[in-house]
Amino acid sequence: MKVIDHIKQAKSTLFSIEILPPLKGRSIQSIFDGIDPLMEFKPSFVDVTYHREEYLYKKREGGYLEKVSIRKRPGTVGICAAIINKYHVDAVPHIICGGFSKEETENALIDLQFLDIDNVLALRGDSIKSEPEFIPEPNGHGYAIDLVKQVSQMNKGRYIEEDLAHVAPTNFCIGVAGYPEKHCEAPNMISDIKYLKAKIDAGAEYIVTQMFFDNSKYFEFVNKCREMSINVPIIPGLKIITTKKQATILPKIFKIDIPQPLLEQIDKCKTDAEVKEVGIEWCINQSKELIKSKTPCLHFYTMGAAETTRRVASAVF
Ligand code: FAD
Repeated sequence: MKVIDHIKQAKSTLFSIEILPPLKGRSIQSIFDGIDPLMEFKPSFVDVTYHREEYLYKKREGGYLEKVSIRKRPGTVGICAAIINKYHVDAVPHIICGGFSKEETENALIDLQFLDIDNVLALRGDSIKSEPEFIPEPNGHGYAIDLVKQVSQMNKGRYIEEDLAHVAPTNFCIGVAGYPEKHCEAPNMISDIKYLKAKIDAGAEYIVTQMFFDNSKYFEFVNKCREMSINVPIIPGLKIITTKKQATILPKIFKIDIPQPLLEQIDKCKTDAEVKEVGIEWCINQSKELIKSKTPCLHFYTMGAAETTRRVASAVF
């Protein structure tokens, strides 16, 4: 079932999660172990992130360095199929522009269609570490909107090759990313929301936000989106802080703020076990306020921490 239909049919705020594929070589059991404790809250859908290749330099005999391409977390599509098969819950694979030509994207979407997966979250992806800015593949997409357009075209039965016979249109519900604290490359919030609106106009049906720890930023963002005629559901993304290190790492990675009152509480903690309690409490309060404001769904970035997500979910659902 499509994410948008889950939202349309919901009588109260839904629960959903995002998971990461395991590191290459590890078993899929770690994924199931991360989902099992959350099944009692009946997640409406499970997002599975996509991780493109990275380039590493490996020292070879004779001292020379060889540039090697490595994908640390493959398996997005396989995990989606396994989740649908095991739990009968909808899975949402993330698809990205980075590393894909248009034809490779088309072929990946055909695989998803054959697996009966009817949701995708369409993203640009970040630049890889060895590149200063995002560089699309030759004949690939430079922005998420171009990916949204390609999926929308396939939903209308328009593939790259124009003269295909007996074409079966795909049937994807497309979600896109939004940033309550602005995307780091956008010159300002209005510009960022203008491009977000373009993604909706191109066929995206809902937005999932970057994580935030201050609900007022989400509410302001939703208001600005509505003022700029974005009328689709805007699903808040939530992360539970569990270690002291995350208070400095999350802002660096995701370009988000940690509110001062939260930071002060974290600073007072002597152990990460104490930080985890602060993080859970903070997220419970955020969740309760969001539910009160009738947000369509709470989307948890579990990052493998099922137990903390379970504690928040049991306090609010
Ligand atoms: P876009 O919508 O393309 O926007 C990128 C930047 O370009 C923005 O600053 C925007 O304002 C600007 N812009 C957009 N269109 C135009 C245009 N036509 N002309 C000029 N400027 C433009 N990354 C992964 O690699 N894998 C994942 O699984 C993944 N999952 C994510 C899930 C969520 C919910 C979120 C919020 C992010 C996720 N990301 C993931 C990270 C995401 O790929 C990065 O944040 C990336 O830098 C931007 O992606 P986007 O889809 O928002 O890009």
